[in-house]
Amino acid sequence: MAKAVQEVLVRYGEIFLKSPFVFRQFEKKLVENVARVFKRRGVKFKIRKERGRIFVEAPVSEARELQNVFGVVSFSPVWRLGSVKLKDIKNFCKDKFKGFVKKGETFAVRAKRVGNHNFSSKDLEVEVGKVVRGKVDLSRPQKEIFVEVRENEAYIFTEVFQGPGGLPVSSSGKVVSFISGGIDSAVSSWLAMKRGCQVVFLHFHSFPLVSQKSIEKTKTIVEKLNDYQFNGKLILIPFQKVQQLLKLGAPAKYLVVLYRRSMVRVGQNLAEEEKAKALFTGESLGQVSSQTLPNLAVIDEAAKLPVFRPLIGMDKAEIIDIARKIGTFETSILPQEDCCQLFVPKHPATQANVALIKDIEKKVGVQKLEREILKEKREIFV
Ligand code: ATP
Ligand code: MG
Repeated sequence: MAKAVQEVLVRYGEIFLKSPFVFRQFEKKLVENVARVFKRRGVKFKIRKERGRIFVEAPVSEARELQNVFGVVSFSPVWRLGSVKLKDIKNFCKDKFKGFVKKGETFAVRAKRVGNHNFSSKDLEVEVGKVVRGKVDLSRPQKEIFVEVRENEAYIFTEVFQGPGGLPVSSSGKVVSFISGGIDSAVSSWLAMKRGCQVVFLHFHSFPLVSQKSIEKTKTIVEKLNDYQFNGKLILIPFQKVQQLLKLGAPAKYLVVLYRRSMVRVGQNLAEEEKAKALFTGESLGQVSSQTLPNLAVIDEAAKLPVFRPLIGMDKAEIIDIARKIGTFETSILPQEDCCQLFVPKHPATQANVALIKDIEKKVGVQKLEREILKEKREIFV
């Protein structure tokens, strides 16, 4: 019988839209990111690119983490048969799928063919269908057998697992994502990764003014998110000095907006050190008083780099759906003292005024302090 090798077939999608040069770069990144999955599992593997797909010769049981690799549309454990003779394919399927279709179940064979062969894909479906026991149902089968014949190789598989789509992490460049320990910023960081960003996480904390809880939570969330980019850095910056300074010199109703502007400036300086090209936050329009259109505009006025807010048009329920899917929700909802709520009244201003805010900042000299707290940063490699 023709020899069959077990492999993992990885399919990718959107990067096909690129020009050939960009495509090759993206593809290279994706191959690197796919390889990391298997490296991390400590298994031997061989990887090859072939006509717009990636094949990994490795124990297929180690492939599950491919569901976290951005750029992967789907993947399948496959048998690669070193023969494209119809007889060999039939013999292989007859042997492999003995008992595959259980009593009373239905099945279908789906075939694709590329190259010159003396049979059509329809012939493949019919002929393989003949050697598999069970009732054929082409519209709603309970089991499916896929046969793909490409030039001089045949691939046979029964499962297609979904990948997360998107673009390969780090193909778009580096960004700083503001992460609070709450629900939203975990999701916005994930969405940054989904569009190919390598994320550096930035968390401001008010320890020892409040407990370390937000730091612990953020660390756990970053660990979870790092399943999607494999190596990431969390940067912790103590924020309480800025908060105390602003509290002394500003009306309480403007504090949240002032805090946010300070965070943006510190984040920007960090981005410069990190050679990151943009900032990401988990703000969504109108969700809380600091996230009204006028306040977001005042926050952005402090920014030189683009501030991206992937959640801007999402409802809380939609954000929570993603948080559950990516596994950050349970940690995000654990209680914590929110550093931004420190000294803040129940009803903060929803319409801050830039001129006034800039006056306050100048008067209290907050920018000098912002440079100091950046120096107090602590890096954690997750
Ligand atoms: P989240 O669930 O992400 O905390 P939220 O709806 O609670 O968001 P805010 O607390 O107003 O909203 O925060 C808005 C955004 O500001 C956050 O999504 C995050 O990007 C950023 N942010 C807030 N607090 C911090 C912090 N302590 N460190 C870093 N970024 C923060
Ligand atoms: Mg929050």
